[in-house]
Amino acid sequence: MKLELRGITKRFGSFTANDGIDLVVEPGTIHALLGENGAGKSTLMNVLFGLLKADEGQVLVDGEPVQFSGPRDAMAAGIGMVHQHFMLVPVFTVAENVVLGDEPVRGGGVLDRASAARRVRETAARFGFHLDPDALVGDLPVGVQQRVEIVKALVRDAKVLILDEPTAVLTPQETDELLTIMRELADAGTAIVFITHKLREVKEVADTITIIRRGKVVGTADPSASATELASAMVGRQVDLTV
Ligand code: ADP
Ligand code: MG
Repeated sequence: MKLELRGITKRFGSFTANDGIDLVVEPGTIHALLGENGAGKSTLMNVLFGLLKADEGQVLVDGEPVQFSGPRDAMAAGIGMVHQHFMLVPVFTVAENVVLGDEPVRGGGVLDRASAARRVRETAARFGFHLDPDALVGDLPVGVQQRVEIVKALVRDAKVLILDEPTAVLTPQETDELLTIMRELADAGTAIVFITHKLREVKEVADTITIIRRGKVVGTADPSASATELASAMVGRQVDLTV
């Protein structure tokens, strides 16, 4: 599924967090959104996910304008988002968190519970990791909680997966594993929006890079760009980096 943002503007009072942002995300690719803290990356994705309403601009899915009045609409359209701060309920199990937000589980029905558990196991296994559907989310390490968020998006058959600074909470090994999962998903046709300010990760995994500074797109690059070029575009002045 192809996603287009056209002229997205989002203001908070007199402050413009997104200023006419254009972005095209192609299926089967990892599209990095690179920008410093406060550049407006999460705001843009929250607009896309229906959490914030844009003041101006349009979202198009496969060329058709769409309007999401909330995350439920966005998920129904095939968009999944893993937030910087997870939106999981710690006292619920993995399976309960995954189905949360779906239609009410009928009478807490055993069948629904069993099928939720099966979906969790199968989806996790597809990407080579194990998730215990009955574990309490609050008991799990943060890297595993993130996988619950990813599985939650994937069981809804997300065609676009937004990952907002996903590696910030991960160990180096978990980071490498996540980058591998992202590549597998993209190879299977999912469009991935990868928000980060870490140049190494971008150069390693991104197919396309859009650089955002102070609410505006200031450039696009491909992963062969040098870290110095990327960092300079990100901060808006020449910086010297040898990576
Ligand atoms: P990034 O994700 O790139 O770090 P954000 O999109 O979170 O940046 O924030 C962009 C700017 O918008 C920041 O200056 C931030 O303080 C501001 N901002 C974000 N959300 C709100 C809000 N709900 N109310 C007011 N200002 C906000
Ligand atoms: Mg952010």
